[in-house]
Amino acid sequence: MSSSKTALITGASSGLGAVYAQRLAARGYNLILVARRAEKLTALAAELEHAHGVAVRSFAADLTTEAGIASVEQLLRDDDIALLVNNAGMGPFATTAQMSHADAAATLTLNVTALMRLTRAVLPGMRARKAGHVVNVGSVMAFFPSPMSALYSATKAFVLTFSRGVADEAREDGVLVQAVLPAGTVTDFYETAGISIDNFDRSVFMTAEQLVDAGLAGMDRGE
Ligand code: NAP
Repeated sequence: MSSSKTALITGASSGLGAVYAQRLAARGYNLILVARRAEKLTALAAELEHAHGVAVRSFAADLTTEAGIASVEQLLRDDDIALLVNNAGMGPFATTAQMSHADAAATLTLNVTALMRLTRAVLPGMRARKAGHVVNVGSVMAFFPSPMSALYSATKAFVLTFSRGVADEAREDGVLVQAVLPAGTVTDFYETAGISIDNFDRSVFMTAEQLVDAGLAGMDRGE
């Protein structure tokens, strides 16, 4: 192990979370990677351990379930976590009236409840150690409630407001909380949401690498 610092990243099996994993491994962090698709996490873990000589643990969990959230809370309480990246999120592309109850409940649980509970689980240890970073991935949609994304935009408004308040609470204990608000970024997010990314103007989209590098630059500055 090249570093004693450990970062836990949710939604690390693809998109922004996988790039956070790459960048943080390159910085010498040991990692705990969380998502549902265990095979993707295991492959990424092997790649990063080989490339960067860090310890990477895969942890399969569904953060829309009580068991999944509770198991990751336990990890965050048991390990000395230097950095939590609350990145897992979803945004089914549907009107509020047409969205299934299952999709609506899962969106609220993943984007709001899991993010809030994991933040609360990691904070006491960080505050006791007087050090730590929490990165909460929101969205510019926090500012733009719009048709087909009313619930998603509202969950991301929660992420922003919650992060700002917790940042003010935790700063005096040496803990930094950053809200990262991506605009359109090329990932699997859109296909998973049920709409092809080709419906959007790709010329204004960022790559996942550009977004994560910008987020980490802000984190380095104590944003
Ligand atoms: P993505 O490639 O679809 O990644 C989503 C990640 O969340 C995957 O690793 C997925 O892993 C994980 N995830 C989904 N449901 C989960 C569950 N129930 N339990 C645990 N993990 C779950 O999309 P992305 O763009 O990287 O999204 C990352 C974050 O960026 C999200 O919070 C999203 O709202 C935000 N964002 C994205 C954009 C954009 O344009 N791409 C813009 C603004 C904000 P599994 O499927 O393996 O569980």
